[in-house]
Amino acid sequence: MSEASTQTDEHAIAIDVRDLMFHYPDGRVALCGVSFRIAQGESVAIIGPNGAGKSTLLLHLNGILPGRRRYLHTHDETAPLHEHDENPRVWVFGLPVTEANLPRVRQTVGLLFQDPDDQLFCPTVLEDVAFGPRNLGLTDEEAIQVARECLEAVGLRGYEARIPHHLSFGERKRVCLAGVLACRPQIIALDEPTSNLDPRARRQFIALIEKLDCTKVIATHDLELVLEICSRVILLDQGRIYADGPTLEILSNEHLMEEHGLEVPLSLRPRGLSDQVDDGRAGARVAS
Ligand code: ADP
Repeated sequence: MSEASTQTDEHAIAIDVRDLMFHYPDGRVALCGVSFRIAQGESVAIIGPNGAGKSTLLLHLNGILPGRRRYLHTHDETAPLHEHDENPRVWVFGLPVTEANLPRVRQTVGLLFQDPDDQLFCPTVLEDVAFGPRNLGLTDEEAIQVARECLEAVGLRGYEARIPHHLSFGERKRVCLAGVLACRPQIIALDEPTSNLDPRARRQFIALIEKLDCTKVIATHDLELVLEICSRVILLDQGRIYADGPTLEILSNEHLMEEHGLEVPLSLRPRGLSDQVDDGRAGARVAS
């Protein structure tokens, strides 16, 4: 068990973000003073319009960003690389996300990228999923065993020898999830987990996420998924938090949602509107 996990208890703070600011090297501000805490076991959605800073935020949770000092405060290429070590803004189970702690941080926080092709790089599915555990120090045999178990868990038994890039988008996404799970993270951060999935693959993926026994942070536009899985929502826009509270309260607040380029999900809209949609459907002609 990792040192981080031994520090946890039922009410432990899994993620603590304090006054996080970030701009990209071209000067574009992505996060301006973001603060929140997530308790162990919570499932929290990060919602917001395109460009709100959701992906940038997730990349900070396992230390992919800020990366280098010049990304933070300066464009000076000669600046020391890891200034954020002196001034951490993110903690996972009390562990500051610093360069020195990156191996433990990445063991604790698994990040599922929006695009599986950003994550897959090995010649076979099995090697890809085994890469993480092998990197964490498991023997080849142990890593392969864990990888097989995780492929089974995501419904991809029999895919071991397949070439990742020859799989469908939904299958590739599941391989990525298996790869994340193979590292046994306590926190899982998912960036748009259901985007580009067809309805059946989306449903299967939601069922998989729901079953995961860990703290979940989900950046998504899929508000029906949020209603199903997350008890809390953080609404981000232009790099700032505008709302943080119970899912139903936030998603049903029409004014708040519209103000930030979002819509109340269909299932929460007043019945009249749903009825009109149903009427429309009833009148549609379906080719047999
Ligand atoms: P979201 O995930 O909510 O769509 P992002 O975190 O991707 O938002 O982006 C936040 C802001 O940072 C946007 O203005 C976006 O254009 C900008 N941005 C994202 N990635 C980069 C990058 N690599 N270089 C410069 N700006 C970026």
